[in-house]
Amino acid sequence: MADDQVMMETQAGGPGEFARFDLTRVPSPCFVIDEAAIENNLKVLAKISEQSGAKILSALKAFSLPAVGPLIGQYLSGTCSSGLFEARLARQHYQGELATYCAGYKMEDMPEIIELSDHLIFNSPAQLKRFLPLVKDSGKDIHIGLRINPEHSEGLVEKYDPCAPFSRLGTPVSDLTDEIMQHVDGLHFHTLCEQEFAPLLRTWEAVKPKIERYLPNLKWLNFGGGHHITRSDYDRDALINFIQNIRKETGLEIYLEPGEAVALDAGILIGEILDLPENEMKLAITDISATCHMPDVIEAPYRPQMLDEVEEGEPYRLGGPSCLAGDVIGDYCFKNEPQIGDRIAFLDQAHYSFVKTNTFNGVPLPAIALWNSKTDDLRIVRTFSYDDFLMRIS
Ligand SMILES: *Cc1c(COP(=O)(O)O)cnc(C)c1O
Repeated sequence: MADDQVMMETQAGGPGEFARFDLTRVPSPCFVIDEAAIENNLKVLAKISEQSGAKILSALKAFSLPAVGPLIGQYLSGTCSSGLFEARLARQHYQGELATYCAGYKMEDMPEIIELSDHLIFNSPAQLKRFLPLVKDSGKDIHIGLRINPEHSEGLVEKYDPCAPFSRLGTPVSDLTDEIMQHVDGLHFHTLCEQEFAPLLRTWEAVKPKIERYLPNLKWLNFGGGHHITRSDYDRDALINFIQNIRKETGLEIYLEPGEAVALDAGILIGEILDLPENEMKLAITDISATCHMPDVIEAPYRPQMLDEVEEGEPYRLGGPSCLAGDVIGDYCFKNEPQIGDRIAFLDQAHYSFVKTNTFNGVPLPAIALWNSKTDDLRIVRTFSYDDFLMRIS
């Protein structure tokens, strides 16, 4: 396939192939992930990797679906995990290298984490020093990394800005010393969130003078995640040039660990309208709960796009079946007046969605289905029951 063709296939928002998915093919509620859309994203990322020489790891935190582990392994260099459980998941269901970073490791987890990981990235010099003897004793050839705080803010929202004042994430770059850096094989920073290329460039330019003198003794640099590489307006050529230049200049291996970009626009959450009450405006109760099924709607916060929503008309305020007054998804206008029992779907629900669900209020968990928009194959990966609710409280 020509380069341009791959680049054309990037996600551009909107429903994509889901526009023709029959919402009644699955139980409700249900996450439906389009394998072909994931593969399109992976092709874009693989091209970046091939042309820039960077290694790209899939961040399990954003999107963990063992069913697509082998597919991800065909395109990316490996995965990155946030601790013991994700590291196990990576080794059991994914391929390639594994970089583990955790803001705080526990002693009892370390032997297994060391056993599983290729890169072990610490958040602070104290954690590094505490666990370095374990690494040495293991006799394993594992790279030691240190996460730095570049002390250069590009975050648009403080909650998602690891460089905000008093941030606990990463060692402030101005605190690096020769003493600690003698143990370090690689530096890691993760400071972006859903951002394009320019913030990465500015971050690098800000941090480079502060780490330059350590670079000759390193093996790699890891630029974390938050790169919205598969969004149609991302400047991928600039990213490729940038990485090529740094590799040439420093001789270091470069890692990127996108999460969201792997699963961007590759899933929907299907639900059903349960009731249509009114209280000075039209309301709709659905079997989708913002707080249980799309917690980022409240936490981020953001308003998910709804399939087939229109801009004009009388809005309905959609909310979940829970008792939380704030369990509101948002206000939406329908093309046709909604009826009880109608199916609805929210777009772009593959990342930071089913990895964050909970059973608060006894609200049932959505099923997870895998669809392939190219072959139309549909597989229900998992349904949940009362036992899954009970299991977490007894
Ligand atoms: C969350 C996270 C990622 C992935 O971030 P995205 O915004 O999903 O691309 C990568 N690395 C680390 C350390 C993270 O915490």
